[in-house]
Amino acid sequence: MTTSRFAPSPTGLLHLGHAFSAVLARARGDRFLLRIEDLDPGRSRPEFIDAINEDLAWLGIAPDAVPLVQSRRTNHYAAALDELRGQGLVYPCFCTRADIAAALSAPHGASVHYPGTCRGLPDDPERRAAGPHSWRLDAARAIGRIGLPSWREEDGTVCTAAAADFDDVILARKDAPAAYHLACIVDDAASGVTLVVRGADLRASTPVQRILQLLLGLPQPTYLHHRLVTHADGGRLAKRDRAPTLAAMRADGVDGSVLARDLLAGQLPLGFSWSNA
Ligand code: GLU
Repeated sequence: MTTSRFAPSPTGLLHLGHAFSAVLARARGDRFLLRIEDLDPGRSRPEFIDAINEDLAWLGIAPDAVPLVQSRRTNHYAAALDELRGQGLVYPCFCTRADIAAALSAPHGASVHYPGTCRGLPDDPERRAAGPHSWRLDAARAIGRIGLPSWREEDGTVCTAAAADFDDVILARKDAPAAYHLACIVDDAASGVTLVVRGADLRASTPVQRILQLLLGLPQPTYLHHRLVTHADGGRLAKRDRAPTLAAMRADGVDGSVLARDLLAGQLPLGFSWSNA
């Protein structure tokens, strides 16, 4: 049995790209789950959760279980972080955004990766107690422990990550108890997700999520990184731009179940196109 999920962040109204993801996840799963990824306290809003529920109902999609809401599950993420801490694979990071930007504009700093400023600092519980800090994965050490992970795409392709795909990503934020990668893999495992359906723009998240699954002994889902919906001129749909939201389409009288069927058949409304990016 395939269990799939749709895991939107309630930080804005959903657009056609989200509709495609949801419709595809529903179609590919015998069991389809909804997860609300509301860990960003500054940007998540209850009215966007309401809109997600209304959008899915309009598309004719009903989750097969009560949705998981990440902000209510922070103890699970804290336990996973503890486990990684026990394995010596995470470190506290005291950098501000400005520190990181300054380090990256140094001569060798062409990379967008974390420059590693706090990696290898002696652990100082007093400093940790004194001020806000995040926790980062020591990616090189994790790879040393586990090797470069592979994963399987739904079409049978096996992908293997390269060392350059990894960064010392943040696993717990200064202002939130967990960050995306950790919460995502903990929840996919907790709800028995066997097929992760998401846009190709999130493919870059898969190597680090696979390594976290391996380190924590979690099962390995299959992945379907699907093509993206863009504007006809190739422009990316973003929550805050000219992309018509599903709420607006609904208000305009568009039939959601017809749209869902068309999306699955690969047909987009006028003004949009597909991109494999
Ligand atoms: N919450 C993420 C987003 O809305 C999706 C996460 C995922 O599907 O893994 O972009």
